[in-house]
Amino acid sequence: DSASADSKNLRAKLVLLGDSGVGKSCIVLRFVRGQFDPTSKVTVGASFLSQTIALQDSTTVKFEIWDTAGQERYAALAPLYYRGAAVAVVVYDITVPESFNKAQYWVKELQKHGSPGIVMALVGNKADLHESRKVSVQDGVDYAEKNGMFFIETSAKTADNINQLFEEIAKRLPRTS
Ligand code: GDP
Ligand code: MG
Repeated sequence: DSASADSKNLRAKLVLLGDSGVGKSCIVLRFVRGQFDPTSKVTVGASFLSQTIALQDSTTVKFEIWDTAGQERYAALAPLYYRGAAVAVVVYDITVPESFNKAQYWVKELQKHGSPGIVMALVGNKADLHESRKVSVQDGVDYAEKNGMFFIETSAKTADNINQLFEEIAKRLPRTS
């Protein structure tokens, strides 16, 4: 039930995981609404948004995006959140090394308990804050490569690489035929 429909019109449940404050909700709002609200409050309750994108080969992908209010902090609840997800976007903040460690924890968790064949992306967000960078691009690249993940650095604030992130995920979804 995670990725389905015919080969031209795909549908995929997408979840975001990562420390609180890394910018998960801002990435979603930038992608879905084209906005960045620096004053936006912490998500209250899980919110659901969907967005469809078209690829060059005319395939469309409807992302059903589950944003979390931080339920994933309770290890026991996390599996309920990512159950059936075709895509997991694991986010860290390039200025916060602890958030990169936490991202690695989530990758391991998803490798053990995620849907078989789940498409995983590793995202270093807040790339606009490069003067405060604490996690190198190379560290992100190396970890992603070792774990067979797609890697990208983004900025929800400037919109840098946000559409590219979702396009690359869409290209990696399994096709039914
Ligand atoms: P979440 O807890 O992971 O959902 O994080 P939020 O999306 O609520 O963002 C946490 C804070 O980081 C907010 O104050 C945002 O304004 C800020 N933020 C999010 N993305 C970026 C970004 O790309 N660049 C900068 N400079 N700040 C960001
Ligand atoms: Mg949030």
